[in-house]
Amino acid sequence: MREHIGFCGYNCHLCAARSEDYEIRKKMVEGWRKIFGHENYTPENVICAGCRNEGPHADTNCQARPCALEKGFTSCTECAEFPCAKMKNLMASKAGMLLWCYPRTAGISKEEYELCMQQFDSMSNLIRLGIKNGKFPDWLDNDLQD
Ligand code: SF4
Ligand code: SF4
Repeated sequence: MREHIGFCGYNCHLCAARSEDYEIRKKMVEGWRKIFGHENYTPENVICAGCRNEGPHADTNCQARPCALEKGFTSCTECAEFPCAKMKNLMASKAGMLLWCYPRTAGISKEEYELCMQQFDSMSNLIRLGIKNGKFPDWLDNDLQD
């Protein structure tokens, strides 16, 4: 699968919001309701072209995408203001979500995890891209691979 990382670091290439299959998006939003308590998302309003593409985007309130586009960046880690208030609430890790959402994540299935959580694992991408863009020292790259 071709990597497609959002400006905020989200794994767009792993997100079921990009699926044309209504049933897959339905399963995803049902999982979000169960795990995160999100009530507003439906298979109809969660359909996304992917952060770097034109078209509908699942997060219609995202402030990071228009800002990064206007500045001509491919990642917020290129920005002198990183990490700003517009994207801080988009920083997440899959490990953190599993813990913060416990006990709702206690019995999570592999399917629920893959549909509902893995796309939001932005922190590891932001660190990796942050190293590439001079925000962190190079030695961290080796350390993170341990
Ligand atoms: S939350 Fe915004 S910046 Fe992040 S992937 Fe979605 S549209 Fe892109
Ligand atoms: S100001 Fe914030 S949202 Fe905009 S490009 Fe910089 S880090 Fe991203």
